[in-house]
Amino acid sequence: MNIEIDTHSHTLASGHAYNTIREMAASAAEKGQKGLAITDHSIRMPGTCHIYYFQNMRIVPRKMYGIELLLGTELNILNESGEVDMSQGLLAEMDIAIASMHLPCYEGECTREKITQAYVNVMENEYVDIIGHPDDGRFPVDFEVLAREAKRTKTLLEVNNSSLRPEGFRINAVENCRRMLEECKKHEAMIVLGTDSHVDVDIAEYPYAYRILKEVDFPEELVANRSLEKLKSCLKHTFF
Ligand SMILES: [Zn+2]
Ligand SMILES: [Zn+2]
Repeated sequence: MNIEIDTHSHTLASGHAYNTIREMAASAAEKGQKGLAITDHSIRMPGTCHIYYFQNMRIVPRKMYGIELLLGTELNILNESGEVDMSQGLLAEMDIAIASMHLPCYEGECTREKITQAYVNVMENEYVDIIGHPDDGRFPVDFEVLAREAKRTKTLLEVNNSSLRPEGFRINAVENCRRMLEECKKHEAMIVLGTDSHVDVDIAEYPYAYRILKEVDFPEELVANRSLEKLKSCLKHTFF
């Protein structure tokens, strides 16, 4: 399978990543990608940038080294109501938004019922395009409900290559990812592959994601970022 755009990456602005926007774009171009989504951590993540970074993002060119850049954010889901750490007004200006659970930022209870509720509520957000790493077993989730609601709300579910690394810090990620993919097949919910790169060399490398997709015989037509145009048509954010 060929993926034309990596939907999840971080720059120096995130505070624990190591390259600039220009370096990330150059790496994606070298690897023959057509696009790259840069999704720096939103403001509740310790060490990340100020809200001004996101407010000023309109000045950055969306074309570099012949590839298209989608500049957005990885939001923190804050509670079971599905609140996130960016206003709807600013979220509307992003090219792309991922919403994820992160331990330092989630203030709700970590029961399966509450986490599932948080995801369901955040997927109702008209500017949340993707749920990031829902495979993280530290945040248990009902994958049947997740896939069904993802389909209904046109939210993409992420297969996160970093979660699936043998040295990954997320719990039960491989098993959870497998279960999620089975439910996505059943409910015809769309997914994306994201590397969650925090360094340029990791962009567009999906060895673990490919392996698991093959294992579950996942249908290619449900992978939104096989093409840049397909991805753009699947995002809730619109492009003119
Ligand atoms: Zn990070
Ligand atoms: Zn994340």
